[in-house]
Amino acid sequence: MYGYFQKDDNDERFYAEHLANRLPDPIFDAHAHLNLPEHVSRVSQQTINGDWALECGLVMPYEDAVSYHETLFPNLKMKILALPWPLPEADIPANNAYLSGLAGENKVTALMTIRPEWDAEYVEKQLLAGGFAGFKPYPYMAASEKGAEVSIFDFLPHHHLEIADKHGKAVLLHLPRKGRLADDDNIHEIRTIVQRYPGLRLVIAHFGRSFNVKYLKEGLIKLGDDKGAVYFDTAAVINPAVHREALQHLRSDQILFGMDLPILLWHGKRRWTETEYFNLCREDFSWNKHTDADNEKSYTFFVYEQCKAMLDCMEEEGASAQTVKDIFHHNAVKVYGAK
Ligand SMILES: [Zn+2]
Repeated sequence: MYGYFQKDDNDERFYAEHLANRLPDPIFDAHAHLNLPEHVSRVSQQTINGDWALECGLVMPYEDAVSYHETLFPNLKMKILALPWPLPEADIPANNAYLSGLAGENKVTALMTIRPEWDAEYVEKQLLAGGFAGFKPYPYMAASEKGAEVSIFDFLPHHHLEIADKHGKAVLLHLPRKGRLADDDNIHEIRTIVQRYPGLRLVIAHFGRSFNVKYLKEGLIKLGDDKGAVYFDTAAVINPAVHREALQHLRSDQILFGMDLPILLWHGKRRWTETEYFNLCREDFSWNKHTDADNEKSYTFFVYEQCKAMLDCMEEEGASAQTVKDIFHHNAVKVYGAK
């Protein structure tokens, strides 16, 4: 486990006050990256330095995930949608095999990461033999920088989509491009996928990287008639405006709770402009400039802030107890065919 992950009295208080009696049981964490150290031993320091998220967490064996969950959410039963680390330098076949093994022991529901150069025969065989619920493609397979201007089909080729479609599997998509969900080319390609491959279930991670409400608002309008055909996960989104927008403009069965562990195990929150976000964090990562040092002691876990934001917004929007259970658990069970 990461040594920086420490629960303090302030966290206990925050949990008791804002979460303990409001979170449903069980919870399905539908976005967690699981692996072993050897799967990422070839990931270079340069790659890690290029993405703040990788410095926070890059290794999480199943046992660690269980420990993090038990510490964060004592007494709640947690289920996991396990994703590999979708980095080009990672040992993807070995990471996929590790998750397939965990799925075989009924410990997790798993997605397999695909490399765009893999042929259809290999991908189909791995998908079915490995007991995977679907695919976790990633833009890093087509470009090395975050938010690169690449096509979705550069890292999620049609011959892989055809397999997911044919077998009724899910695809958890992390969007490329600086315009995020509001980007016209992303919108066009998302609409192409749902129209051409109606047999698969498309889940768009991080509300389409909508960490600011502007992207979600514009993107949902641009999706037009196809808005109802996609799902979104909430991973790494703590902006209340985004959750409110989602609750107002999506069906509640389209929203799946996820946290993006082990990236977000630190204490902190975010500040936003119209188009950007800034991490405010207590722990000493190289990217942390401690711009809010005086208040850092009072920070709680980022994921607690996320849960509180979601629960507050659901309450404000008059969501029923059933809707809360759906978003935190049932929707993921349905979309990923999990138990
Ligand atoms: Zn992730």
